[in-house]
Amino acid sequence: MTDSNDSSKYEIIVVGAGPAGLAAALYASRSRVPTLVLERGIPGGQLWNTEDIDDYLGFGLVKGPELAQKMQEHVEKFGTEIETANVTGIFSEGDEKIVETDDGTQYRALAVIVTAGGDPRKLGVPGEEELAGKGVSYCAVCDGAFFDGEKIAVVGGGDSAVEESAFLTRYGTKVSIIHRRDEFRAQPILVEQMEATGKVEIVLDTVVEEIVGNDRVSGLKLKNVKTGEKSELEVGAVFPYVGFIPHSDIFKEEIEQDDGNYIVSDEKMATSIPGVFVAGDVRSQYARQISNAVGDATVAALAANAYVNDVKLKRSKAAGATE
Ligand code: NAP
Repeated sequence: MTDSNDSSKYEIIVVGAGPAGLAAALYASRSRVPTLVLERGIPGGQLWNTEDIDDYLGFGLVKGPELAQKMQEHVEKFGTEIETANVTGIFSEGDEKIVETDDGTQYRALAVIVTAGGDPRKLGVPGEEELAGKGVSYCAVCDGAFFDGEKIAVVGGGDSAVEESAFLTRYGTKVSIIHRRDEFRAQPILVEQMEATGKVEIVLDTVVEEIVGNDRVSGLKLKNVKTGEKSELEVGAVFPYVGFIPHSDIFKEEIEQDDGNYIVSDEKMATSIPGVFVAGDVRSQYARQISNAVGDATVAALAANAYVNDVKLKRSKAAGATE
């Protein structure tokens, strides 16, 4: 195990360099706080898996990878260091936070901002990976408008699937919601709202066996789990909403999480561990958009900065008392 730095080198470590992490780094660096960003993949996170973005204010229509590069360049202009590292553990030691990576390296800082995101749960059926971004999408708000005038399918029976089915009726000529059981997990009010659109076909007791299409989605192969009957559904897009897996398992001490393992925070994005702040998709929140990830990360960076100043003040007072 190596100790890669002393706490005087970095005051804030940001874990994850998606839009939230990069925004946190921008604000921390502009506040002249020595900041390190640790990212296991390419900075930009899920932006690299998103073809077109047309809901990020001021950009009109922008490619996900282009926005990722712009965000990274913007942050690096202010001197933030971004290192490639896979964080596997975060824990406290005195008034310091230790961030450990999979090769045993330990980074130290006074505060950590966790913007590690998460992954949409996949269906795991043939065609899903191959047609991702070509009709398979995990974000109705981001991509729904690209399927204006087409038939659309949503998979899942929870709040997200039901809510997003209703949302997608703005674009789809017909929306089919495909759920594996005979009753929805979603709140009844959301089901009522979805039904009230009059444009959602409910397909129960049914699973998707394959997503078909050559260079874009053209349909789904379905199976009724009660009768075993197989069928095909012609659609131009499919939105699996079968849950989201937040990357909240990197804490080596207890941190408050909600039922879905999202990290709970207050209005300053402070978690139940002093000195640990959170923003973006790993945070327990109402919406998961680039805009609120960036906004919440701004709050997290400013609050972390204040927290760091407080720790330093306490340290200098303690040092003064012992002189
Ligand atoms: P969720 O509640 O975990 O629901 C996932 C759904 O996907 C379930 O219906 C589940 O079926 C189904 N599913 C899981 N794996 C599947 C698979 N391999 N194949 C087919 N179907 C599968 O997830 P969520 O809807 O994303 O919601 C996450 C959390 O956010 C929840 O706590 C929810 O209440 C909250 N949320 C709230 C709102 C709101 O209040 N407006 C909106 C969105 C989300 P089963 O039912 O058979 O298990």
